Amino acid sequence: MPLKRRPSRKRPPRNRIGCKRGHRQTRLLQPERQMPLPAIRGKNVHLFLDFDGTLAPIVRSPENARLPDSVKKVLNRLARAPGFQVTVVSGRSLRDIQKRVGIRGMTYGGNHGLEISGPGFRYAPPLPRAYHRALACLRPVLNRALRPFPGAILEDKDLTLSVHYRRLAPGLVPSFKRTLKSAVSLWRDRGAVALRTGKKVLEIRPPISWGKGDAVLWLLNRNSLPEDIPVYIGDDRTDEDAFAALRGKGITIRVGRSPRSAARYRLNGPGAVEQFLKNLPAMQGAAHE
Ligand SMILES: [Mg+2]
Repeated sequence: MPLKRRPSRKRPPRNRIGCKRGHRQTRLLQPERQMPLPAIRGKNVHLFLDFDGTLAPIVRSPENARLPDSVKKVLNRLARAPGFQVTVVSGRSLRDIQKRVGIRGMTYGGNHGLEISGPGFRYAPPLPRAYHRALACLRPVLNRALRPFPGAILEDKDLTLSVHYRRLAPGLVPSFKRTLKSAVSLWRDRGAVALRTGKKVLEIRPPISWGKGDAVLWLLNRNSLPEDIPVYIGDDRTDEDAFAALRGKGITIRVGRSPRSAARYRLNGPGAVEQFLKNLPAMQGAAHE
């Protein structure tokens, strides 16, 4: 009897077009051409935007990322336009993202939505006490463990820790990952912390299932009507949470070259996002005049 090949545990399930389950082929939006988004016309738009790689270009050192002046101008205009609610949801700390964007009257989600702040409100889902204790122990442990890896940067984001390795010599990456995972394993194995990967970053975060998708749904639940439309734009794996949460509820746009995502649409890069944001009020129409 022929042996059946066992499915690999590492590989996520794929569907017929070779995408991860729940993922599909995105449709490329070309903002310089006519935009095929009639769903926006006449609606109240809840706009959710990631920061790095979406509004601001990715740079080698995350502390150097900045919002281009032209994008800030567009955001400012949208934040004040009737019929638009603008939220920036980032993996950065709330403090950091508020400072980097620097526009008042908008809503911000830091640490992938673990801390949310908007005009007149703040929210943070409760975190286990063991997590805070683990984080306090891990800070010095990671500082020591990272010494042999010049170019790896530990970013303390208050509620989470990120280790960026974009500037690490490629030959050191495998041993860096092994070292970091073993440094975290004591707390990870006890379920006190979770480890997540992003674009050239490893993140130590709470072991709760709360991501950008939950934050977006929480905000919509707080302040939207059934006829409103959410629009979410992001470039990273953490944004896939939000794309999945908004399936069938709004417009989801993945930024970057990868054509496969839980998002419905795709924009090529931050330049195309800027152009898209400029076009939004015209797409939405004169609904609120
Ligand atoms: Mg990003």
